[in-house]
Amino acid sequence: MGIRSTRAVVTKTMRMSNSSKLVSLITEKYGLVKVMAKGARRPQSKFGASLEPVTLIDTIYYDKGSRDIQTLTSAEIEKSYLNIKDDLKMLSVASCMVEIAQFHTAEEDVSAGTFRLVVESLDDLESGRKKDADKHLWRFMMRLLETTGYRPSLDSCYNCGKKPKGTSVFFSFEDGGVLCSCTSPDNRYGIRVSAGSLMVMQSLLDAKETDLPNLSIGKDQKHEVEKTILQFLAYHSGSSRPPKSLAFMRKLESAI
Ligand SMILES: [Zn+2]
Repeated sequence: MGIRSTRAVVTKTMRMSNSSKLVSLITEKYGLVKVMAKGARRPQSKFGASLEPVTLIDTIYYDKGSRDIQTLTSAEIEKSYLNIKDDLKMLSVASCMVEIAQFHTAEEDVSAGTFRLVVESLDDLESGRKKDADKHLWRFMMRLLETTGYRPSLDSCYNCGKKPKGTSVFFSFEDGGVLCSCTSPDNRYGIRVSAGSLMVMQSLLDAKETDLPNLSIGKDQKHEVEKTILQFLAYHSGSSRPPKSLAFMRKLESAI
C-alpha cells in the first residue's frame, strides 16, 4: 500500500468513462497491475501518448492495498517503439507478445522475468526486419516458456535421454518434453510433432536476435510450430483460449 514507482509495459487500455481509462501494465517490480488513469481520455491530458499499448513507461501509482484497480499518478514514456507502431504486421506481432505475456504474469510477481523478456523482445522487433516478425513472435513464445520454468526438452527423450528416431515424435505436454519409443504415449497429454518442427523450436530457443534472418522455416512447419507452442503454453496456463490478437492477425493474413 502507498505510492509505488516502477517501469512498465502497457499491454491493454479500456475506456472507463468519458474521461478515464483502465490500463493494464506488466511492471518491473510488481508483476501485473491494473491502474485507473483519470482524465486520460481528455485532450491535453497529462498522460499524453504514454498509455498506448506497446509503450515502455516510467510510472508512479497509488496502491490501495486491497483493491484490484490502483490509481495512476504519472506516466513518462521511456520507449515508444515507433518502427513497430508504423507497420501493421509488426504492431500485430507486438500486440500478440504483450497479450500472451500478460496472461503469464502474476500480480505481485517480483521476479521481473516476463517484464524483461517483453522489453528485450520488443527491442529486438523494433530493430528487426518486418519479414522476420513471425520468427520474433515464436522465439518470444519459446523464451516465455523458459522464463516461466517450462523450457521443454526437445532434442532428447524426457525419460531416457536418447535422441528420438523417426520423422515424427510424441511431445508430451505433461512431461514437458519429447518421448522416444521407450515410453508409451498412451494416457499422456500431448501431440505428435514432425522432427523438422522440433528442430525449428529448438533453434528458436537457442537463437540470438541476429540469428533470426538466417533461420529458415518451411511453410508447413510454420503452422505446426505455432500450433505446438500455443498448445504447450495453453497447457501450462490452464486456458485453451488462443490469444485474440494472434487469431485476428492470422485471419487478416488469410484474407489478403
Ligand atoms: Zn526414451
